[in-house]
Amino acid sequence: MLELHGENEHFMATVTDFYAVYSDGTEAKADPFGNNVAFACADCGYPVLAVARKNQRGSSIENTSVCNGCRQHYVIEVRETTHKIIIYRAHEL
Ligand SMILES: [Zn+2]
Repeated sequence: MLELHGENEHFMATVTDFYAVYSDGTEAKADPFGNNVAFACADCGYPVLAVARKNQRGSSIENTSVCNGCRQHYVIEVRETTHKIIIYRAHEL
């Protein structure tokens, strides 16, 4: 499970073709590839990019991905065993 607070020094995930859901369990329109995942903002539908690497955008509450459409902040959680990406609004964490 992803360390949401950045304690894991080696955190880096390959998320190609992972299944992306929002925190309420609904499927996200997303394009996970390599260490990156582009997904549609849950609020306004604008594209948002997160990077599954330590200290990169969307990797932790200190390094959120910000929607350029509505300024919503996001953090992703990568579940490697089930090949899932969970997309949280930062204020939910
Ligand atoms: Zn938005």
